[in-house]
Amino acid sequence: MGTEVVEKVDPIVAAQSLHARFGIVAPEDLDVERLAAACGAFVVWRETGSADARVVRAADVAYLAIAASARGTSRARFSIAHELGHHLLHRGVDAIERIHGRPRTRGREFTVEREADRFATELLVPEAMLLARCRLQPPTLQRVEEAARVFEVSLTVAARRWAELADAACAFVESKDGIITKATRSRAFRGIAVQRRRLESRSMAMEALRRGVLAGRLLALGDAWGSSAQVAVVEESMAIGSGRVLTWLWHDG
Ligand SMILES: [Zn+2]
Repeated sequence: MGTEVVEKVDPIVAAQSLHARFGIVAPEDLDVERLAAACGAFVVWRETGSADARVVRAADVAYLAIAASARGTSRARFSIAHELGHHLLHRGVDAIERIHGRPRTRGREFTVEREADRFATELLVPEAMLLARCRLQPPTLQRVEEAARVFEVSLTVAARRWAELADAACAFVESKDGIITKATRSRAFRGIAVQRRRLESRSMAMEALRRGVLAGRLLALGDAWGSSAQVAVVEESMAIGSGRVLTWLWHDG
């Protein structure tokens, strides 16, 4: 029992109302740890076991236990924002502590996790602030990396967000062991980037996987991502370890 949601709050609206309430109009205005404290959620840096973060709740106050080893990193910032999302959105859900540290399942728990992620993404990378950058042409990985630095989020968070919002043709592909685990495409992207698809052997992503982390970034203009779309797709891929490769794709509109 205890999994009822007291009131339904939209994660995006919740994040935007915090920006308004605390006068956050630029990325440097956002101190996520102080913001969380102002909302009654206090960060405690400690060892957290297998999970990155946990919420412990007492009355209206929450203690966000965040991995001490991650302090100062973009990962910790995202964890704080995610846990703050639970604190604000899921007050009626007392199963949060139990949920974390386990593989994500379907149904209600999955929804709760996705809402906390959406809240965290909008809180840290507000649509209104990223849109101006997304209009810069061409939409290279370098620009996405710059956004990740400015907003102090991981490249993955910045790239997913960029591909969601951009008018330009671009896509962000995450793969593991040669299989695409997630593909985020902009509306204008006409190449082929689909979840569960195997990487093309002639793609730079596959080359990055073969060479490993030390190969760094590989850049190519090839047909591995949709020659049938009759567009030349620029590919920038990098291996990040454990069989994972991040790929940024773009083409001229
Ligand atoms: Zn969570």
